[in-house]
Amino acid sequence: MINVEQLTKSFGKLEVLRGITTSVERGEVVAVIGPSGSGKSTFLRCLNMLETPSGGRIEIDGIEITDPKTDITKVRQRIGMVFQHFHLFPHMTVIDNIAFAPVKVKGLSREEARAKGLELLRRVGLEDKADVYPSRLSGGQKQRVAIARSLAMDPDVMLFDEPTSALDPEMVKEVLSVIRDLASSGMTMLIVTHEMKFAREAADTVYFLDGGLLIEKAKPEEFFTRPQSERAARFLEQVL
Ligand code: ADP
Ligand code: MG
Repeated sequence: MINVEQLTKSFGKLEVLRGITTSVERGEVVAVIGPSGSGKSTFLRCLNMLETPSGGRIEIDGIEITDPKTDITKVRQRIGMVFQHFHLFPHMTVIDNIAFAPVKVKGLSREEARAKGLELLRRVGLEDKADVYPSRLSGGQKQRVAIARSLAMDPDVMLFDEPTSALDPEMVKEVLSVIRDLASSGMTMLIVTHEMKFAREAADTVYFLDGGLLIEKAKPEEFFTRPQSERAARFLEQVL
């Protein structure tokens, strides 16, 4: 589904990604972990071209998104992204937040988009919140709406950048549980997370990034019990 070859990204003199090569299968769930500043967010942002790579190539579902000729707006519609902060439209109700892009971009009728939105709200456990404004929701609820809004575009890939980092502890579970359901539904996903227990249980593969390099790529069980590198072992000592 995703092929990354020798991906590099620099900001001025700062080399943030220093040659990442990997591939993600359709339906694979990847947990991306690593110390702060290791390039996790930049890696994810390159995958939907929110950042323009400095070098290397990225192919998603057979389309080389790093090719300047590729219509990146189209590609982006197929890649959902959920951030630490939810970025809901504050002046729109929950259902309008979800239905907005499908109407505007996909050309669905308002009725179709709302019906689909309601179904997604059911999926994230918030069908009773369709007509409220985001300011009335808890952080965990806002994040679940943000996920539903992404799903409304029928993405082939979902990218999550620390989706629970801004949440109070009691709300982390409800969001992880939605992400877990999505994982078991066969969605291809990359999730940057500090939730090690979640990474261990929900991911097919763990990527450990450090200093802009993909230092380890392993099954969670292997990674958490027998990290291969000194750096990963030290990281795990600090976070577990
Ligand atoms: P992580 O998500 O692993 O914490 P990031 O990908 O956010 O790491 O950042 C990696 C490095 O790149 C950091 O040193 C950060 O300061 C730098 N960086 C990220 N985005 C930019 C930017 N837009 N301009 C300059 N430096 C950046
Ligand atoms: Mg980050």
